Amino acid sequence: MTNYRSSPQLSRRGVLASAGAGAAAALLGAAGRPGAAEAALPGRAGTRVVVIGGGIAGVAAAWLMDGYCNVTLLEAASTLGGHNATVQLDVDGRQVAVDLGAQFFGPASHPIYHKLVTSVLQLPTVPNALYNTVAQYGVQTPVMVSPSAGRPITDVLPYLPGLQAIGAVMAGAKDLETRQDWDTTVGEFVEALAVDETLKQSLVYPFVASVNGASIPQAKAFSARAALALGVRPLVGDGAEQRTEYVNARDGLQAVIAALAGEFTTVTALTNSAATGLSRNGALYRVVDAAGRVHVAEHVVLALPPEPATTLVAQLPGADPLVRAYRRFGYMPARIVVHRDPVYMPAASTDWSSFNILRDGDHAEASIAFQQLRGDVTLYKSWALNRRQEPEQLLAETTFRHPVITPDFIRAQSVLHSRNGCDGLWFAGSHVLDVDSQESALVTAIRVAAKLSPLSPNRRRLGTLPPSPVIP
Ligand SMILES: Cc1cc2nc3c(=O)[nH]c(=O)nc-3n(C[C@H](O)[C@H](O)[C@H](O)COP(=O)(O)OP(=O)(O)OC[C@H]3O[C@@H](n4cnc5c(N)ncnc54)[C@H](O)[C@@H]3O)c2cc1C
Repeated sequence: MTNYRSSPQLSRRGVLASAGAGAAAALLGAAGRPGAAEAALPGRAGTRVVVIGGGIAGVAAAWLMDGYCNVTLLEAASTLGGHNATVQLDVDGRQVAVDLGAQFFGPASHPIYHKLVTSVLQLPTVPNALYNTVAQYGVQTPVMVSPSAGRPITDVLPYLPGLQAIGAVMAGAKDLETRQDWDTTVGEFVEALAVDETLKQSLVYPFVASVNGASIPQAKAFSARAALALGVRPLVGDGAEQRTEYVNARDGLQAVIAALAGEFTTVTALTNSAATGLSRNGALYRVVDAAGRVHVAEHVVLALPPEPATTLVAQLPGADPLVRAYRRFGYMPARIVVHRDPVYMPAASTDWSSFNILRDGDHAEASIAFQQLRGDVTLYKSWALNRRQEPEQLLAETTFRHPVITPDFIRAQSVLHSRNGCDGLWFAGSHVLDVDSQESALVTAIRVAAKLSPLSPNRRRLGTLPPSPVIP
């Protein structure tokens, strides 16, 4: 172990770097447990870093390094945000911010992200009431309707078997969470449940598939813990009853991105600037963007999804193990539509919930009713890849990619962890850690910044990190 005090040759810069490592360890808390390769030397003030990908992971990484490193942030799209995609809609003369992609977060499922948004950035949030109806296409009576504030308990008594089945799913999911079991698949998990077979097919599988944007056959191969993590985590641990709420950002999650990017001082963010080339010469990386500009840096942070990341890392010599690892992260398309007609809602309006799941053969897609969710506007946000009908009053439409979050997807993350920081190449993004969420994306950014910019002002503002379920 280096004894810095006894080293007469230590430069002032070296003192700063070693002091930074100590400060970083103190600030980092539990989130900073490094993998072996992460124990590389910390970055120095003024280090040049290129961050590729301007979703929450890339923007947060850049923000956390701001004021300490010289960062170039490259984003392929015309705006920063990635899956943080907010549209401003005029609904009955009122401006409403609707998140097409990520939308929900909460103090139990997303404690660090929640702290960033509400305490550090002090952005307004709106509370949500999340409850479910599960119905079958062409069948009037739902399979399950869950209780809610506006629904007398007597109304849901007919759905008691369904509610008990979901109770069994949640109890099993808590157990997987407690045992940190990523390996049991949804198929294995559901088959082992003490639940009536008809309910497994008509309720449990559609429920699990829809919350992951997957078809039922796809969902069966998912890690059961991963598939249920975001729903069950508020129920795990002490004081769970106080932590069950989810919120939305009042002005949409792009307001979070805008707030972070609005504070950039030593970050240059370039949109419409996909990274197309990546090479290394000695200690320096050269990143070429779509406009042909060349960006030279000591460190590169890959904060883009695995599919385009594979194309970039494949250009580096000796990248085969990384390419193989990246190819283990499967993705599938998701189509989101925002509309005003209740085309995907249950037949009787008394059965409407905030999250409405409709099973149709092998598919089960959800429709979020904003009037039930937060009472501010009549609007629906629906997954609509395999629906029989299109909505009549389409206000917005987009496509994303959802992860195919199998046990092997989770296992592949360990390859990225073991190589994080090797030769100045870093990995960030929700695929790198735990399940697909704002929290996991943010924690990966914090881990990178802890090494590259231990003394940054913004990392200090984030302060001590609350315990997070994404950190084992
Ligand atoms: C419909 C939907 C609903 C969701 N709901 C929730 C939710 O309620 N709560 C929650 O916590 N999570 C939710 N998620 C998951 C969440 O959105 C993601 O986990 C998170 O936003 C991923 O952030 P990221 O920065 O890792 O990746 P991304 O947001 O995918 O960002 C990656 C960026 O890289 C850019 N890029 C790609 N190629 C290149 C290139 N060559 N050069 C430069 N840039 C490039 C992309 O354009 C993109 O902007 C949802 C996701 C979807 C799709």
